[in-house]
Amino acid sequence: MLKGRNAIVTGSTSGIGKGIAEALASAGANVMLNGFGDAAEIERQRAALAGSATVEVAYHPADMSRPADIRDMIESAQKTFGGVDILVNNAGIQHVAPIEEFPDDRWDAVIAINLSSAFHAIKAALPGMRARKWGRIINIASAHGLVASAEKSAYVSAKHGIIGLTKTVALETAGSGITSVAICPGWVLTPLVQKQIDAKAAAGNLSAAEAKMELLGEKQPSKEFTTPEQIGQTVLFLCSSAADQITGSAISLDGGWVAQ
Ligand code: NAD
Repeated sequence: MLKGRNAIVTGSTSGIGKGIAEALASAGANVMLNGFGDAAEIERQRAALAGSATVEVAYHPADMSRPADIRDMIESAQKTFGGVDILVNNAGIQHVAPIEEFPDDRWDAVIAINLSSAFHAIKAALPGMRARKWGRIINIASAHGLVASAEKSAYVSAKHGIIGLTKTVALETAGSGITSVAICPGWVLTPLVQKQIDAKAAAGNLSAAEAKMELLGEKQPSKEFTTPEQIGQTVLFLCSSAADQITGSAISLDGGWVAQ
């Protein structure tokens, strides 16, 4: 389905981004991976993905808090593959603290990595998409892009912001063959969430299983985690022609979280 298309997935060495990269490669797209991690492990991941799907898989170590790195990543994908057709802005971090205690440097890092990085990547990738008259910009927002939770001021601000950015880009690209969509997952069991489960278990003297159920029970009515595979399949749908008119939307995969 995506043979001949070239994709970048930021933050794809772990969790949701890894699931999205695997889905895109399995559908025939060449993929540029990005994210932090052990170099040998990343190379194993890159080679396995390239082998499993007979697509080209590259890796760029851009730090998504650094605009110059982001521009270099887009240029590198353009040189390696000949263009960027699908840009998935997924890299993200979390910090949990009441606002009076929220460290300034954590605020700046969350906004830079979860929001500004998408602006810089979209700005660099759009001219090529416009030239080829086709593109998919998919921003991984969150249920926290639509509703808030206490102690997540930077994350909630960044995620609400990225939905605004998604809509603005949709208006600026409408009718050009390019779409801009936000995906809003609820809880997904990745290292980002595992840290919050561990903190809950420690604070409440709970077992890991109890802390998981408490976390889900507070927000996600289905009481089931959303999976990286489900998000990967949603990305494939958004890359299909069935989704040509889906632009400026925020699509929830949250087990009913924001229906409450
Ligand atoms: P994760 O911690 O498993 O993965 C995050 C990825 O981002 C990793 O590959 C990491 O190396 C990369 N990354 C972090 N900082 C980076 C930087 N400065 N430069 C480049 N890469 C960087 O987390 P995840 O849960 O898979 O989260 C992925 C995205 O999904 C995030 O934007 C997150 O906000 C969003 N999200 C997650 C959940 C959830 O429940 N896990 C829910 C909704 C939205």
